[in-house]
Amino acid sequence: MDIRFVKREVLKEKPDQKNLGFGKYMTDYMFVMDWTKDEGWKDARIVPHEPITLEPSCVTLHYAQETFEGLKAYRTAEGKIQLFRPEMNAKRMITSNERLCMPAFPVDMFVEAVRALVKVEEAWVPTEPETSLYIRPFMFATEAALGVHMASAYKFMVICCPVGAYYAEGINPVKILVEDELVRAVKGGTGFTKCGGNYAGSILGQVKAEKMGYSQVLWLDGEQRKYVEEVGTMNIMFKIAGEIYTAPIEGTVLAGVTRDSMLHLLRDWGYKVNETRLSIDDLMKAGHDGTLEEVFGTGTAAVISPVGELRYKDDVVTVNDFKIGELTQKLYDTLTGIQWGKIEDRFGWTQEVK
Ligand SMILES: *Cc1c(COP(=O)(O)O)cnc(C)c1O
Repeated sequence: MDIRFVKREVLKEKPDQKNLGFGKYMTDYMFVMDWTKDEGWKDARIVPHEPITLEPSCVTLHYAQETFEGLKAYRTAEGKIQLFRPEMNAKRMITSNERLCMPAFPVDMFVEAVRALVKVEEAWVPTEPETSLYIRPFMFATEAALGVHMASAYKFMVICCPVGAYYAEGINPVKILVEDELVRAVKGGTGFTKCGGNYAGSILGQVKAEKMGYSQVLWLDGEQRKYVEEVGTMNIMFKIAGEIYTAPIEGTVLAGVTRDSMLHLLRDWGYKVNETRLSIDDLMKAGHDGTLEEVFGTGTAAVISPVGELRYKDDVVTVNDFKIGELTQKLYDTLTGIQWGKIEDRFGWTQEVK
């Protein structure tokens, strides 16, 4: 793939690495490529990160034909930069695009685009502990026409931003509200894709949870509101009587890269992993009878997020005395150890960019 480069006159000032937060500071450049029905993918370019123009009738603004991905570039102690399983993000975007009737962006081009942009933005990959460069590939319809249809023009873009530890205070357990009314996904819908529309529909639940003093929502299945599925932007796992439980990937849950990696580690360590439907009643019961040992969310942004409290209607369960669990901590240390190159990568998950 030929990538055109448009240089920026003045580079931005880099933010303080100790106060990066999440998604606040965009780097100097972005990757852009266009697709049209007649010509396919064309004009790969890395250009200054700046606002783009869209025709107000653009399909995406009205009907949300948009998908996205999220991955990170990590700085190792030796100063090298590495990516973590980027092909999985590329493949998942193709799955999302198929469901939304959008053209596929080929896996090799996806990885090449990400690698090329990270190389250009090398100086933006932070060096402080727990920091990384968050990479956001996304794709959306650009065709100007108000009818609901499969658009004839799209843009694929990659932007990035240096990020700090997701939780500024360190990984402390969070309080989760089990949502018993609103739903996120149903079979046959778009729950298994990473598309903006899924999030638009989930914000109300998030607002409701925050009003009650909870930081995230645990979604139940959309048909019976009976089985636990996902937390906000994360997959969720439970350790009950020594075994691991997590929702199966069956059309409503997103196939997280972090989820897959954790399950690999857990199986490697000899844990019994149950990718089965777990009812909220059984979960709350386990919370009361003492068999619910650990609960944690998994996702690229936070890596792992221990859950200290679950509320379902009027029933409240405290998990592991509101402390991070031993296994949760071990998973966090191992996965981040591999990502930052501190632990040997026995699974071939990382790839060096520079
Ligand atoms: C992105 C996302 C996840 C986590 O996926 P990772 O690949 O681990 O980052 C989980 N659930 C939803 C709904 C998501 O959008």
